Amino acid sequence: MSRSAREPPPAQLRVPSLTLKAGRERSLKLRHPWIFSGAIDRVDGDLASGSTVTVLAADGTPLARAAYSPSSQIRARVWSFDPDDSIDAGFISAAIARAAASRATLFDTDHTAARIVHGESDGLPGVVADRYGDVVVVQLSSAGAEFFRAAIVDALAALPGVHCVYERSDAEVRALEGLPQRTGVAQGTLPTSLTMREDGLRYGVDPVAGQKTGFYLDQRDNRRLVRTLARERRVLNAFCYTGGFTLAALAGGAASVVSIDSSAEALAQGHANIARNPGLAAKHNQWVEADAFADLRRLRNAGATFDLVVLDPPKFAPTAAHAERASRAYKDVNLLALKLLAPGGQLATFSCSGGVSSDLFQKIVAGAALDANATVHIQRRLGPSADHPVALNFPEGDYLKGLLLRKS
Ligand code: SAH
Repeated sequence: MSRSAREPPPAQLRVPSLTLKAGRERSLKLRHPWIFSGAIDRVDGDLASGSTVTVLAADGTPLARAAYSPSSQIRARVWSFDPDDSIDAGFISAAIARAAASRATLFDTDHTAARIVHGESDGLPGVVADRYGDVVVVQLSSAGAEFFRAAIVDALAALPGVHCVYERSDAEVRALEGLPQRTGVAQGTLPTSLTMREDGLRYGVDPVAGQKTGFYLDQRDNRRLVRTLARERRVLNAFCYTGGFTLAALAGGAASVVSIDSSAEALAQGHANIARNPGLAAKHNQWVEADAFADLRRLRNAGATFDLVVLDPPKFAPTAAHAERASRAYKDVNLLALKLLAPGGQLATFSCSGGVSSDLFQKIVAGAALDANATVHIQRRLGPSADHPVALNFPEGDYLKGLLLRKS
């Protein structure tokens, strides 16, 4: 070890530091933002949850500045790969402004909602912010994000046209970071009813009681695709939530739509969503409150067939550890969907499980096609819309994958 490493310059004495084990700096050099507990040799200084540390290689070379999370396996998340960067309100607000600006072209009169901050992929680990008109719904899920909560809320509230920041920090992952759940208005006043437009269609959003931040914005492009495929088709939309794909299919001229979800609240919002768009033929859609697995089986037993099926189930595998059980669920539901498809029909099938890779998902669907005795081709590979970018240094961000399939 060199003399200068053993006697760090004064600036490093002032800031708490985290020193990696020998050879464990590789992922940081690849700019991966997570530091796992097993890679850490020691921490020096007073480290409160979420406070900023300088990350040092085993030889004392400064590598990055990161947020320390004492109770998580992901013990630190990198804010900056420049070890000289000050991590403060100015740093946070510049990063948020940059992230929001990169979505500018996604907003127009027909599109008033998009994700404006997408966590690690925007250099802001544990920070997700979705904008619905003049309301931003923020979700903080890491100790570092929690530490800078006030700066994050202020920066979001300062974006042009934002009148309210509502917090939905109630994701289960917060427990892994030792954080309690918190929800409520963080700044401004939440309107009694919030609506947004996507592709010209009007949807209600409930930031207080809705799932995630209120709407599944990641499926925007795929709803657009379904709209273009739906003309005169008999459509089945399983796991429909508030009817995102249902409205898209109706707007695209579907002959009929059957929309299934297990959540009565989601279906009630779906009902209201159709009413919000007077041009849509509500009579062509049937809402079904049911377990989708059971209902697809029932439809199959009743001899029903469809020309276009959308399958957008919840996250069966949050991590790779759940992949096996999740694989069975994906296979079952895809098998049923393929059996329900008429010859020449199309299936848009998705997985939003971080623990199931695109390759694995394709293999699962191939297994389902084999068991369904169906000849199936991939017409298109699908992913999230541009407001959910995947940073190349953070492949874990690649959670939503989908296939547009055609059955011969
Ligand atoms: N496609 C939707 C988002 C789907 S999210 C959109 O575009 O907005 C997944 C949905 O699956 C949620 O609405 C959830 O309520 C529902 N869900 C979860 N488990 C289910 C089950 N077993 N049967 C039916 N729906 C289920």
